[in-house]
Amino acid sequence: MNIDLTTPVSAISRVGKTTASRLKKLGIETVEDLIFYYPFRWQDFSQIFDIASLKPEQIVTVRGKIQLITNRRSFAKRKMLTEALVSDQTGSVKVIWFNQPFLTKVLAPGDEVFLSGKADFDRYTLQLVNPIYEKVSKDTTHTARLVPIYSLTSNLTQKQIRFLIKTVLPAVNLIQEWLPESLLKEFKLLGLHSALKQIHFPDDKKTLAKAINRLKFDELFLFQLQIILGKNEIASSQAIPIKFFEQKTRDFVSALPFQLTNDQKKVAWKIISDLQIPRPMNRLLEGDVGSGKTVVAALAMLNVALNQKQAVLMAPTEILASQHYKNICSLFEKTEIKIGLMTKSQKQIGQETVSKKKIIDDLSRGDINLVVGTHALIQDDIAFKDLVLAVIDEQHRFGVGQRKILRQKSGNCQDLPHLLSMTATPIPRSLALTFCGDLDLSIIREMPKERKKIITKVVDSKNRKLAYDFVREQVKLGRQIFVICPLIDPSDKLGVKSVTTEYEKLKKEIFPDLKIDMLHGKLKSADKEQIMQDFLAKKSDILVATSVVEVGVDVPNASVMLIEGSERFGLAQLHQFRGRVGRSSHQSYCFLFTDSQTQKTKERLEALVTAKDGFELAEFDLKFRGPGEIYGTIQSGFPEFKLAELTDYELVQKAKSAAEKILADDLNNYPLLKQKMNQFAKKIHLE
Ligand code: ADP
Ligand code: MG
Repeated sequence: MNIDLTTPVSAISRVGKTTASRLKKLGIETVEDLIFYYPFRWQDFSQIFDIASLKPEQIVTVRGKIQLITNRRSFAKRKMLTEALVSDQTGSVKVIWFNQPFLTKVLAPGDEVFLSGKADFDRYTLQLVNPIYEKVSKDTTHTARLVPIYSLTSNLTQKQIRFLIKTVLPAVNLIQEWLPESLLKEFKLLGLHSALKQIHFPDDKKTLAKAINRLKFDELFLFQLQIILGKNEIASSQAIPIKFFEQKTRDFVSALPFQLTNDQKKVAWKIISDLQIPRPMNRLLEGDVGSGKTVVAALAMLNVALNQKQAVLMAPTEILASQHYKNICSLFEKTEIKIGLMTKSQKQIGQETVSKKKIIDDLSRGDINLVVGTHALIQDDIAFKDLVLAVIDEQHRFGVGQRKILRQKSGNCQDLPHLLSMTATPIPRSLALTFCGDLDLSIIREMPKERKKIITKVVDSKNRKLAYDFVREQVKLGRQIFVICPLIDPSDKLGVKSVTTEYEKLKKEIFPDLKIDMLHGKLKSADKEQIMQDFLAKKSDILVATSVVEVGVDVPNASVMLIEGSERFGLAQLHQFRGRVGRSSHQSYCFLFTDSQTQKTKERLEALVTAKDGFELAEFDLKFRGPGEIYGTIQSGFPEFKLAELTDYELVQKAKSAAEKILADDLNNYPLLKQKMNQFAKKIHLE
């Protein structure tokens, strides 16, 4: 068969309509898609065992001759059993398969086969149960090697996909190597052809590691190219400089009901200096929950308004946007500045509810200087008169593409708006450089003084009841409670099961008299918002949720954060949860439930009682559990790589230096690479 990269899978022999449509569900439509559908693990069946040496519980491969093979019905369960006897020079072993009666048609006495699977006792005799079988050949696919395991949806089998990939794998040679020779040499990378072949059907573990390394490098390299190009583009763009109104800023600050912390002052000053330069600011502001990032952004927005220009503040959800709006309105209470709110369901100017048209008109005329909203703001048919600053809350990545959209809406097409991104995720500086290499970083570490400390307790199973009694007391006092559930079952990615189970338990057994609500990832975002609104309005006493409550919403009346299976979360993430309470004058509490007795769990959880802030915890996790822990808490805006992880320091550094080299030369000298990069950018939605 003649195949090239664009050949549809349906043209491959043995692929019928049904299989083709199943493959399509996995995003596989062409030969090329198959080639780039990497396995997620490899089962090591490479070692061939003598039959005489088999031990129970061992995962083995044997090579032997089938002596006899027959089907019979099991008495008890009416299952079809296929039994065989297989022998090599050292001995023979019984083999048993369930419900595969066709095997007697495929395998016959005399056949030489590889069998890979688990050895186990059936009463007294050792046998192989349901092993994978394959007739002996030099080039095996399913046994006697490192066998690729693919992530599949139901109805497709590993054997099927392995067969297909093996069939099309020679087409790898039609793909042109896109990395320049110089990089391959300098970074000791496997060539693309070998890497692609080896990742599916590796010769051995060492070569597999090399293949993975090469393909990871590709992803990180293309990502870094993209980041650096974006950074360069921004650096060579113009922005409107914002004059600093010093006296008015001082007046604003002294009218605040509190004193700014030193960190707030420093960061605000840095931002205001950035704004005075005709280059677009590109800054990430990190600060613990409650560290007071909003007022810092407000100082920047104040100066924008005093310059008669416009600023937007964007939040990921409607509730967050409306909470920001209230906050901003009260901060600007004593000024004349006109502020608007625009989300899907709410349109306001000042305290007044207005029509969408009114807001849009006022924005385009420049009558509103500050507008708060969701990300819908940049998609909507809005045109600003003079937008110069975008503040983005809780989104780490805001691509050059999105900024260009803002530019188109800004009423001034030559200039990019300044960007201030804010997050409460404590990304240690070392990580931030690889995550957000194109952003300047500011950190607020100091918390406002009067903040009450949240009382944190690690609670083992013995003390569970005491904690529940305490919860009941708090509810009696009128407070509300968060209960966070970990994801335990891997098939329960959205937490439906874990949250529902916990909800049922609390409702039926523990607090049948209290109002309980639940929140998980399967709910539509409008429903999630409604549930949060209800909780905020005190329509329920207890909210059982997955980590979806991690970001943002302020429920000042909540005083207890109760975390189930707390050992399963990263420390920085636990810290984020804890930040959901303690947002008013009520003393607040965080209970870390755990049934784990290990010393390590104890130490980790105790760190939450002692650590100064989220950064200390993030660094703790970085040291003891690796960067994946922190990466796990960073949800939005980063590309989903197939293999690579942004936390793979060493490789990220290499990729970065490789990207810098290529760009120092000229990307135009590498047309293939350029094309590849553009494809990649589209795929990861950086643009
Ligand atoms: P976050 O950094 O989590 O976004 P916010 O900006 O929402 O924090 O601030 C949390 C609360 O702390 C707000 O009610 C705000 O008015 C208050 N706040 C901010 N700065 C200070 C300060 N320096 N002293 C006391 N309270 C402050
Ligand atoms: Mg905030």
